[in-house]
Amino acid sequence: MEEGADCVGDLYITADAGRLGAFQAKGMLQKAGWSKAIKNVVPSQFRSTQWTGIAKRARIIYYSPERVSANELNGMTYEGLADPKWKGRLVIRKSNNIYNQSLVASLVKNNGKNSTANWAKSVVGNMARTPKGNDRAQIMAVAAGEADIAVANTYYHALMLSGKKGAEQQEAAKKVMPFFPNQQDRGTHMNISGAGMLKHAPNKSNAVKLVEFLLTAEAQNHIVNNTFEYPMISGVSANDLVPGKDLSFKQDNKTSVKTYGAKQADALEVMLAAGWK
Ligand code: FE
Repeated sequence: MEEGADCVGDLYITADAGRLGAFQAKGMLQKAGWSKAIKNVVPSQFRSTQWTGIAKRARIIYYSPERVSANELNGMTYEGLADPKWKGRLVIRKSNNIYNQSLVASLVKNNGKNSTANWAKSVVGNMARTPKGNDRAQIMAVAAGEADIAVANTYYHALMLSGKKGAEQQEAAKKVMPFFPNQQDRGTHMNISGAGMLKHAPNKSNAVKLVEFLLTAEAQNHIVNNTFEYPMISGVSANDLVPGKDLSFKQDNKTSVKTYGAKQADALEVMLAAGWK
């Protein structure tokens, strides 16, 4: 943003469609002219004219199988996080976190702002503690018995199970189970890592070629086995450690990830009004 027209970058590669959408809203991107090769492999709900997903992640619930019964989780949804039965049992990170802003933006889109404002108040009332820490810290809190359910992105659980974050986190990850919400209606909240075409990109056509390469099986295999995200293209398998690795769960294919930038201000507003730290 400081370099302006002097910026020699072509692509802005980052995590979360909410971040890409906010960057687009600041006028920092341009129409990319995505090729047929890109449009053919990236479903339309995972891209805009200015940016495109290159990998996927889900924001799901992790629970303690000792303290949460299958019956309690039956038909569980994001909306259900507001149920008073979870009082003092839920952990989730702060409202300034982009993953939460995108999740809540999807609720604003699907249920309306007023309904989501009420939802946020109930969710805050259900929290086991004032929000702190990253997604892995939420999983740690459930493993330690501080809470019964946590909201976290799928790749963090795999990262913990891999042992790359140490034995303590690996053991904690084994104590929780993944649950994919909203399987009976619109599906589980999905997000992306993606690439946007910078406004002053000096090598636009080569940038499109780079994105085409990132969407080949070769590059996708490298990405999913290092970030533990889901592949964006079909025909590539997620890493064995990732929950839902076979992608047999129902993904929300009704809510475009473009919504997350568009409803970001509403999402933050309802969370802050609810006292979500
Ligand atoms: Fe992350």
